[in-house]
Amino acid sequence: KHNPEGDAHFLEDESTKNFARKVADHYSARTNQTLEEREASPIIHLKKLNNWIKSVLIQLYAKRGDAVLDLACGKGGDLIKWDKAKVGYYVGIDIADGSIEDCRTRYNGDADHHQRRKKFSFPARLMCGDCYEVRLDRILADDAPFDVCSCQFAMHYSWSTEARARRALANVSALLRPGGIFIGTMPDANVIIKKLREAEGLTFGNSVYWIRFDEEFSEKKFKSSNPFGIKYKFHLEDAVDCPEWIVPFHIFKALAEEYDFELVFVKNNHIFVDEYMKKPEFIELMRRLGALSDGNQDRSTLSPDEWEVAYLYLTFVLRKRGQPDQI
Ligand code: SAM
Repeated sequence: KHNPEGDAHFLEDESTKNFARKVADHYSARTNQTLEEREASPIIHLKKLNNWIKSVLIQLYAKRGDAVLDLACGKGGDLIKWDKAKVGYYVGIDIADGSIEDCRTRYNGDADHHQRRKKFSFPARLMCGDCYEVRLDRILADDAPFDVCSCQFAMHYSWSTEARARRALANVSALLRPGGIFIGTMPDANVIIKKLREAEGLTFGNSVYWIRFDEEFSEKKFKSSNPFGIKYKFHLEDAVDCPEWIVPFHIFKALAEEYDFELVFVKNNHIFVDEYMKKPEFIELMRRLGALSDGNQDRSTLSPDEWEVAYLYLTFVLRKRGQPDQI
């Protein structure tokens, strides 16, 4: 009471930690599915579409021999994609210890029920940690510089406070070489806020997802120059059920520029799919991943509700300033 500002900061710090824990516990508790369970998922085609988007990004930006940093790597669902790109070294970090355990199991090749396969051709370092809190440049000083950093469906978990959003970008910037590439996917704030405006109350969704904003939600904060900590609850059938934060992309881009990044592109995932599905090599990849039925070159295997979820996300590519030979 004597120091309301100080108290507020203290409370914010405590609750920020609690929310990070909630996110970690949620993902940690998600056990590996059997192939049959996975195929029966109500969002199986969305999962395949997201895998296709990540594969396209990796094929476009990873080169043979690259050192890769995978922030919020989860259970290592992208390990095979990096292997196909013939990368030379991989570091994966995730806050959820259960997910890192699964990732380790998948990397070591035992009990991998998704695919029995040969060992990965690159060495890997897998760690449990909060990528938006810890000074990764200190921990990974001997592994840096990296050629590519990837943060898939996870960057928005850094947006609970400005300090965390800055730590996330500072970490990636410090670890990438000049000219290095930062690829990622995260919710598209413009789409989410548009849907909120059109909604009756603070909740909207369809048969596979819902989003619920807190009572305290304010458009003012969204439009302000300090739009951190705008929290909502996200539920996606058979995938996600935890607090998330709005990331206004123009602020993300401006902050990234402070950390020496330039924007290569940002696209809503609907646009991304429509653009890259015109390219024969990526149509073929989509067929191999099983997101399309045979001979079907449109998205008709995705239900309209799954396709609406794809619209909630965007894909970004940033490049660290400088030329590689300036190292
Ligand atoms: N990147 C993986 C993929 O595409 O399959 C996992 C995506 S999953 C939707 C989000 C991941 O972000 C979870 O594995 C979660 O544990 C991780 N995560 C959330 N907050 C994090 C943090 N502060 N530090 C590291 N990982 C975090």
